[in-house]
Amino acid sequence: LVRVKVSVDTEKCIGSGTCVLTCSEAFDQDDDGTVVLVAAAPPEGLRERVQAAVDACPTLAISLSE
Ligand code: SF4
Repeated sequence: LVRVKVSVDTEKCIGSGTCVLTCSEAFDQDDDGTVVLVAAAPPEGLRERVQAAVDACPTLAISLSE
């Protein structure tokens, strides 16, 4: 099983915080609200919520690769 890799584009992030609300184990925000990646290779158990965060990000700033 290949662990999914997460990446974030801080240029696209508008600081909505949706990803943090969806999966705080993988995402945080800095003082300006910009996304901070906490877990670049999150465990399998977080996969669904990481995917939910990808889907919920209003600016498509989060992407996954394997
Ligand atoms: S959901 Fe998207 S725009 Fe909102 S804080 Fe996370 S990465 Fe940034």
